[in-house]
Amino acid sequence: MSGVDLDRPLAEARWLRAPESRALLAALEAEGREARFVGGCVRDTLLDPELDPQDLDLATPERPERLMERLPALGFHLVPTGLKHGTVTVILAGRHFEVTTLRRDVACFGRHAEVEFSDDFEEDAARRDFTINAMSCDREGRLFDYFGGRADLLAGRVRFVGEPRQRIREDYLRILRFFRFWARFGRPPADPAALEACAAEAAGLDRLSGERIRAELSRLLPAPGALPALKLVEATGVRARLVSVSFDLDRFARLVATAPEADWLLRLSALLRGRLDRTGLLAFAARLRLSNLERDRLLALATLELPDPLAGRGEQERLVYRLGFPLARDLLSIAAAERGVPAETLRARLAELARFVPPRFPLAGADLLARGVPQGPRLGRLLEAVRSWWEAEGFRPDRAACLARLDVLLAAEAGARAGPG
Ligand code: ATP
Ligand code: MG
Repeated sequence: MSGVDLDRPLAEARWLRAPESRALLAALEAEGREARFVGGCVRDTLLDPELDPQDLDLATPERPERLMERLPALGFHLVPTGLKHGTVTVILAGRHFEVTTLRRDVACFGRHAEVEFSDDFEEDAARRDFTINAMSCDREGRLFDYFGGRADLLAGRVRFVGEPRQRIREDYLRILRFFRFWARFGRPPADPAALEACAAEAAGLDRLSGERIRAELSRLLPAPGALPALKLVEATGVRARLVSVSFDLDRFARLVATAPEADWLLRLSALLRGRLDRTGLLAFAARLRLSNLERDRLLALATLELPDPLAGRGEQERLVYRLGFPLARDLLSIAAAERGVPAETLRARLAELARFVPPRFPLAGADLLARGVPQGPRLGRLLEAVRSWWEAEGFRPDRAACLARLDVLLAAEAGARAGPG
């Protein structure tokens, strides 16, 4: 249950040696009480010593009120982010330091564990979710690993600290966090006790806020092991608690292979395309508390007809002109994945398309008014007709050519009205 280790990667980590980190540690420890770095920065550096994360978590026995007094007096700028949870944020030289007072769990009401402040680093480690997230290190880079997190990390094991079912009942978000961290650090087979607990407690997900679910999903889907993790999300019945239809894992796999840089919403749309209709998508977007822009993007990505990923340059430029580059790029990515277009081919085409600057259509309603076409649907129809022609001509016709085209259309209309003979 214990283990103190002077660890080279940590001792030499850039973030631990950085002057701003030294200054903050010195300030936190000025009254003789030890402070430590915890969580992600320790974990990630053990895997990759070159990492220099800008978001750093610190733990201290100092109470938040005292931090709020002492740190500003020493010249640190504090942002009282989560004061009621005992967290203050210090922004220094571009880094975000989250300083959290040590805590222990005292009671639990299913949703959040009730916590109180503590002086004991091991108690604080015990209330963190996974062994790999429960490690800390002191100013010298000495590793404190009370639950075997380092061995788990190196072996690709994501294990709960303590009894999985109980830990999940304290906070059901930990179900999604399990899959998120497994997708990033896990190697198969996943911990059976954790999987069993996630399956048994899946119903608790109904109580979570959409924001928290979204925060975890948006980090799970882009993770390197998202596909095997999603298979487990499906197999444990966790998916069924999030959305009523099964995920299209094959489409997801094809998308990730063809467009590895696809972001989380594009990945989500691949999981749902063809499975959820518009109403279902809107409901899911509302459940996740997506912004209106995100909701519209998900809807477009999951329902719009797919373009031909191998169409000629002109046709793809017209797609960019109509949808804007980001949406055109994303639809082409899904389409390329569906058609088995190699990742290299897609990348090269998108790089070219990204340089395309959609030209401005040279006509406006005023040009038609000036020719005596009254405001109304006919004006709109004529303008659209010239615009489609201009698009089909590869955006090359200039203003004069567009006006000439308009005159041809007007003449044709007049001819039709006059009738034959
Ligand atoms: P990332 O690099 O993905 O941000 P992280 O380890 O920093 O990884 P966070 O979600 O930012 O992950 O949480 C920071 C730390 O706080 C975790 O490492 C973990 O120790 C603890 N933690 C966060 N959320 C929970 C939770 N719901 N239950 C228990 N511990 C948690
Ligand atoms: Mg973090």
